[in-house]
Amino acid sequence: MFHYDQCLENQLQTLKDEGRYRVFLDLERIVGQFPKASSFGEYTSVDGKCPRNSLDPIGDVTVWCSNDYLGMGQNRAVLDSMVDAIERLGAGAGGTRNISGNHHLIVQLEKELADLHEKEAALVFSSGYVANEATLSTLSKLLPNCVVISDELNHASMIQGILHGKAEKRVFRHNDLEHLEEILKEIDPARPKLLVFESVYSMDGDICPLHEICDLAEKYNAFTFLDEVHAVGMYGPKGGGIADREGLMERIDIIQGTLAKAYGVIGGYIAGKTSTIDAIRSFASGFIFTTTLPPAVAAGALTSVRHLKQSEHERILQQKRANELKDMLKAAEIPYIHSETHIVPVIVGDPILCKEVSDRLLGKYGMYIQPINYPTVPRGTERLRITPGPLHTTEMLSGLVDALSHIWGEVNLPRAQAA
Ligand SMILES: *Cc1c(COP(=O)(O)O)cnc(C)c1O
Repeated sequence: MFHYDQCLENQLQTLKDEGRYRVFLDLERIVGQFPKASSFGEYTSVDGKCPRNSLDPIGDVTVWCSNDYLGMGQNRAVLDSMVDAIERLGAGAGGTRNISGNHHLIVQLEKELADLHEKEAALVFSSGYVANEATLSTLSKLLPNCVVISDELNHASMIQGILHGKAEKRVFRHNDLEHLEEILKEIDPARPKLLVFESVYSMDGDICPLHEICDLAEKYNAFTFLDEVHAVGMYGPKGGGIADREGLMERIDIIQGTLAKAYGVIGGYIAGKTSTIDAIRSFASGFIFTTTLPPAVAAGALTSVRHLKQSEHERILQQKRANELKDMLKAAEIPYIHSETHIVPVIVGDPILCKEVSDRLLGKYGMYIQPINYPTVPRGTERLRITPGPLHTTEMLSGLVDALSHIWGEVNLPRAQAA
């Protein structure tokens, strides 16, 4: 007789033994006080202690790992537009895009996103994950005998999409142009080639060599799909991402982004030529057979995209904070990945210690950085991924680095070599 419960419990025990069992922090973010938040309930750390007790004040936690990179999730204009949409248009969309759910705000949002990326059209999905999964699985089926060429560090949503597309898949070493060209060369020139990569990589914070990749794609007639999830809103003169910054948007066939990170709401999208967007609209199951995002969500996203199109303030301050943090980490000799972006990964290199540092930060200092372990990052590179933003102050930054430095000593982690 098969023991279902026992089987699943064993699988969970493996995660626990390896120190990569995920524990979620129960949080309430507070409008007007982000990155402060209140934590609730039991949070079971490695040593079984709960860092929060009932006497903790409201806003006891400072969030250092949010993807609400620019604090747009509490932007007044965004909130007002969402409230207004709820009052005028109700809670839900009431249907799929095809069956009564094609509300005016989602149509406007798509026009805005197409304009942001200087493309003919755009298509909004429930999330960035769904946008990647649905688009890549559909494209690999629509292009006959297609080969998908994928960067080895691509996000799980792209990997799943490629997998479900069932086309031949070739993986190139991360940002390795020589390896990419080697693969492109090997493929029959007559076959369609779908080249899938990101601009800002979420876990290391590095940027792809976009210009060179575009050159290779042109040389070998590959169709390009670029995930700009960690760049939209934050890079480029109007927040169109790295391709916007580099003036390369017109050389990318499909630009994919999220409305949930820098734009602070929820939803994902693709932008491209009318024919491309129409094909995905017409064939992608993950687009067709699900209810449209609510009008309020579209309204909030629309306001946020428009705001960051004309406001540089948040982008400039975010870069300033990231640079301040890197300088402070360097001075404290805490090892971090030297990227040119707003993502600052502090490397611990062991899952149990990584959780330990995270637990101590939260328990003793009320500072929240979720540990990032395998399979999100390779084993041995376990890290604390810090995302400072415009709403973190310099005082908060120095408090964080002091706390990290203290804990580094307590748990005996190696210091970085002084440069
Ligand atoms: C977060 C993320 C996604 C998914 O976006 P959501 O809107 O959160 O579903 C896609 N790609 C990358 C690289 C991401 O980090």
